Amino acid sequence: MSTPSILILPGDGIGPEVMAEVRKVIAWFGAKRALHFEVTEDLVGGAAYDAHGTPLTDATMARAQEADAVLLGAVGGPKYDDLDFSVKPERGLLRLRKEMDLFANLRPAQCFDALADFSSLKREVVAGLDIMIVRELTSGIYFGEPRGIVTEGNERVGINTQRYTESEIARVARAAFDLARRRSNKVCSMEKANVMESGILWREVVQKVRDTDYPDIALSHMYADAGAMQLCRWPKQFDVIVTDNLFGDLLSDAAAMLTGSLGMLPSASLGAPMANGRPKALYEPVHGSAPDIAGQGKANPIACILSFAMALRYSFDQGAEATRLEAAIDAVLAKGLRTADLLGPEGGSPVGTAAMGDAILVALDESL
Ligand code: NAD
Repeated sequence: MSTPSILILPGDGIGPEVMAEVRKVIAWFGAKRALHFEVTEDLVGGAAYDAHGTPLTDATMARAQEADAVLLGAVGGPKYDDLDFSVKPERGLLRLRKEMDLFANLRPAQCFDALADFSSLKREVVAGLDIMIVRELTSGIYFGEPRGIVTEGNERVGINTQRYTESEIARVARAAFDLARRRSNKVCSMEKANVMESGILWREVVQKVRDTDYPDIALSHMYADAGAMQLCRWPKQFDVIVTDNLFGDLLSDAAAMLTGSLGMLPSASLGAPMANGRPKALYEPVHGSAPDIAGQGKANPIACILSFAMALRYSFDQGAEATRLEAAIDAVLAKGLRTADLLGPEGGSPVGTAAMGDAILVALDESL
């Protein structure tokens, strides 16, 4: 098989700083684990606008479609706030998601032991937590028609429509079940079948896909409001959660915050399999371009490095190497190394972006 390709789009603000650390990690896997990638780099967001007058050129879009995985840093910043909507940095990211048809958004909530006290929940509730929320990303109430604000009689009415086809539900259910097979074969599907027809259809289709093609998966169903409560009460009861666009938006943010800092949160957005069997895939940290600390060498690179770990696991079938990378990060945190965002109220002396990346490389060396 040919060398797998990665397109790196560092973007704006702290994007290039954290991505530089990811490049070191990619190089480490080449040198020490004979895992080679053909890495190319291109512009997105404000950086692309500065160079080309558009947040994503057609040429970059075409390269993203060809790549086995796209790794993105972050886009945006105050410099671009007054641009026309059509060329704002975020449009570059939206175009990637839309044209690659990335319908499954994977948001892990993983709590590293050393950071368990960071959570607003009790240590025993979150320590060792490792769950994955699969959110449907390209349909549902954010896209359904009719939508708009209309006048009825003497007042205005705001309208959005929750709409899901069977095939849209089935494909995200499959993504969740495939994922569960790489974890612990357990999926909880969340909707509001008690009050929404789209929820009734969601529940039926998810169950049918499971019964037909994934009999090995333990599937449960929960109303999304009850799910939100259970996520706060005892999140470790879950492994993979699959849900729609709206509920996923809320539940994944809530779940992510169980684990503490924005600088620690990776994500993946997956689409249909390509000819080589790999899914279309975009990996990115959840955080933005952090203009308040950009250019100061302070940013935490871990969210971006964990996004690469997700690429190893979900695009390149290297689950064991992804676990190695996550364990190296755990080891560095356990030694007490902290970027500024990870310092608690008691303070301490933070390390910078590059020092954190270097420490992770040392921990990777020690894992051999
Ligand atoms: P942000 O995530 O950039 O920053 C929020 C806060 O978290 C800031 O105080 C920042 O310093 C801190 N932070 C974020 N990432 C960090 C890291 N890796 N290490 C240490 N601290 C970190 O969100 P914002 O301030 O609301 O948005 C800033 C810009 O980023 C805006 O232009 C926004 O549109 C854009 N944005 C982009 C994305 C994306 O590219 N996916 C996501 C969110 C926001």
